[in-house]
Amino acid sequence: MTSTGTANIGKDSAANRTDPIRSDVIILGAGLIGLTQALALAAHGLRVAVIDRADPEVLKDAKHDGRVSSINSASWNIFEAIGLAEKLEPHGCNIDKILINDSLKPGKVDFIPDEDDGPLGVMIQNNILQRILFEAAAGNGMIDLYMPAQVTEAERGEYQVTVCLDGTMEIGAQLAAPLLIAADGRGSRMRDEAGIIMATWQYDHSAVICTVTHEQPHGNTAYEIFYPSGPFAILPMRDDGSGQHRSAIVWSVPRKDGPALAKINARAFEAELMKKSGGFLGQMKLHSDRATYPLGFHHSDGLVSQRLALVGDAGHGIHPIAGQGLNLGLRDVAALTECVVDGARTGLDLGDAQILARYDRWRGLDNLMMSAATDILTRLFGMPGDAPSAIRRFGMDIVQRTGPLKDRFMAEARGESGDLPKMLMGDLV
Ligand SMILES: Cc1cc2nc3c(=O)[nH]c(=O)nc-3n(C[C@H](O)[C@H](O)[C@H](O)COP(=O)(O)OP(=O)(O)OC[C@H]3O[C@@H](n4cnc5c(N)ncnc54)[C@H](O)[C@@H]3O)c2cc1C
Repeated sequence: MTSTGTANIGKDSAANRTDPIRSDVIILGAGLIGLTQALALAAHGLRVAVIDRADPEVLKDAKHDGRVSSINSASWNIFEAIGLAEKLEPHGCNIDKILINDSLKPGKVDFIPDEDDGPLGVMIQNNILQRILFEAAAGNGMIDLYMPAQVTEAERGEYQVTVCLDGTMEIGAQLAAPLLIAADGRGSRMRDEAGIIMATWQYDHSAVICTVTHEQPHGNTAYEIFYPSGPFAILPMRDDGSGQHRSAIVWSVPRKDGPALAKINARAFEAELMKKSGGFLGQMKLHSDRATYPLGFHHSDGLVSQRLALVGDAGHGIHPIAGQGLNLGLRDVAALTECVVDGARTGLDLGDAQILARYDRWRGLDNLMMSAATDILTRLFGMPGDAPSAIRRFGMDIVQRTGPLKDRFMAEARGESGDLPKMLMGDLV
């Protein structure tokens, strides 16, 4: 368990240790979404308890999560609002351009914003983002971290939620709050215990991820090349300490090929990379371990239940084809924060059904639209054969030539469409 949580429990005398430790909100899950949620609520003066079964050192290790995420410009505003953007900036690489191709055939779409509009987003390594969020949470007087800790029992009663933690501590601690937020990822136990129904299916894809160095600079460009066997993305990263140009690779391959591709020797893997990329960045060299992720879709039929709200992958999970999964979760965080803070101002109990219903309405449709669009895109670009390829290139050509359509796609890529919570505009609620 981390020092903040230990300090709280250590201060309790033996006599009152059976009393629950009270907070305004309990969050289960200290991943990227759970910690951002905790910091957003704490920034509004709410006391937050965060529980995760993982050791914080493991969560911050690049071997645990070697992915690099694209955070769109609207989501980045959350980090501005909670005061972390300055700390994150030296590690992020702006995305100034997105280029999309159907295989390596001619007929690309480019998204290049006006200079005054700023970058489309920022690429940042998950383990660095996780570390900076964790350090901010551990140093925040309004946040108590319980890590590693297992929930043995969680009861969502009419008036409060109580959660019992197992013996990672001297005694089993009991926490209580009016609201429980589940940020416990794809396999969310809280979602399943609440009986929230899920639509779920697997794609026949695994993503092989790694970082590479290359000879030519990437010009802060994100390249997405669609092959029928799966999309291949080259995403810009900051040059490393010795000035080598770097990019992150997210390569979707048929599921059966994932393990072999992750294991073939580095030289053979690099040769495959050169074939897929067409070599326009010069010689590519592996610069990290490779990892594979089986890809699937899941979508919950509702984001709330009695005194419970789901955020991030606990509520929805999509194909990384458009790099939007984490962004959807950050939108959940911003919207839920606004609903809870507005509710508190009007004197509502933080777990009040009205607050939760507003959150569910706000995020339900937006999540569904993005999830459905991503699913359609995945299927459309996965169709083999010349005819589907010709249709795709025809569609891309129309987007490329039609200014308003392009602007619309660019607004989506930036995360600026729809009814934006205030934190996505960089303001605290
Ligand atoms: C290959 C790939 C590339 C991606 N790239 C992008 C991208 O570029 N941009 C983007 O926006 N999204 C991207 N995504 C999606 C993004 O990574 C996820 O949406 C995001 O990481 C989800 O974060 P989370 O905090 O909701 O869940 P998780 O990261 O799964 O965190 C859940 C946390 O809960 C804890 N937990 C779980 N169960 C329990 C329990 N019972 N008790 C205690 N703790 C528990 C876990 O230990 C963990 O710390 C990508 C996904 C993949 C697979």
